[in-house]
Amino acid sequence: MKTILITGGTGFIGANLCARLLSEGHKIICVDNNYTGRLENITPHLDNPSFTFINHDICTPLKIDTKIDQIYNLACPASPPAYQGKHAIKTTKTCVFGAINMLELAKEHNAVILQASTSEVYGEPLVHPQVETYRGNVNPIGIRACYDEGKRCAESLFFDYHRQEGVDIKVIRIFNTYGPYMDPNDGRVVSNFICQALLGKDITIYGDGTQTRSFCYVDDLIELIIRVMNSGKDFTGPINTGNPDEFTIKELAELVIDKIKGASKIVYKDLPADDPTQRRPDISLAKAKFNWQPSIKLTAGLDKTIEYFKTQIHLFKA
Ligand code: NAD
Ligand code: UDP
Repeated sequence: MKTILITGGTGFIGANLCARLLSEGHKIICVDNNYTGRLENITPHLDNPSFTFINHDICTPLKIDTKIDQIYNLACPASPPAYQGKHAIKTTKTCVFGAINMLELAKEHNAVILQASTSEVYGEPLVHPQVETYRGNVNPIGIRACYDEGKRCAESLFFDYHRQEGVDIKVIRIFNTYGPYMDPNDGRVVSNFICQALLGKDITIYGDGTQTRSFCYVDDLIELIIRVMNSGKDFTGPINTGNPDEFTIKELAELVIDKIKGASKIVYKDLPADDPTQRRPDISLAKAKFNWQPSIKLTAGLDKTIEYFKTQIHLFKA
């Protein structure tokens, strides 16, 4: 049994990770300021003596008295509407100050620390599918830069703490992931399309829908994250974590409409600036090193996610 600190634990991936690690018998310290996370995601655990919730902004240093074995640093808004606009500066601060504060905590506790990086470090990729050795094509002054460059700087901090301070690090680059505990209002494509379809509203495709993404069901992601965390000192990553099955956004819309069979029709809206044209992970490293590949196809994952959003649909505002 380990003591594991999860930042971003009330968010989508964090809540799934808290549930999985608690079920394995670990002690969990969940740290979140609930900016995009939801307390409801962890309320079932609040009576569990193995679970502690700390309301804390990781931009500020954190002191923990209990000895921590592992830290998953997931805290950061992940949806474009949540990290852009008036939240842009705070997003970079969360990526950079948050990484420093959590790396200092890891150093103090001699804990292994895993950073939730992102496929966004590849920007508008000129290499397809994206391999970990590709250095990316990010617009450093665009509206996505607060997130993309923030995450790139966090990666660089992780490797400097590893080289300079001997901290045991793992860096994973997560590609689009979906599933239960997503916030219906976070504005990402899977939550938007399902909620719109469940309510018979228009399905909003940004641009012409030919841009692609590769969608990974959250249980597959969690399985790999845990294997990476427990991989031993020699492995640092970065490692791509995602499902290589690639779909156009129009195909995703049609799949969701076909499953829900409501009155929704597709409408086309402006494509936001710097929206990547294509994205698909090369997962050769995950296959070779961890004998891992996703087991849940998009159609099966969408079924589970639709069932989840039926329980949340009263919250959908857009
Ligand atoms: P999410 O928005 O649901 O969760 C992020 C959590 O971080 C929220 O609970 C939020 O309240 C918390 N948070 C934000 N700023 C904070 C701060 N300053 N201090 C403390 N807590 C803070 O997003 P998610 O999809 O669960 O993403 C989790 C992590 O995975 C993020 O770091 C994200 O960048 C990364 N990631 C996710 C995806 C994806 O497709 N879901 C893809 C790539 C990377
Ligand atoms: N998108 C869309 N309609 C929506 C929300 C998003 O067409 O209601 C598009 C968005 O422009 C992008 C893709 O879907 O091309 C994935 O968007 P998301 O915000 O989920 O993730 P990211 O852009 O970070 O990959």
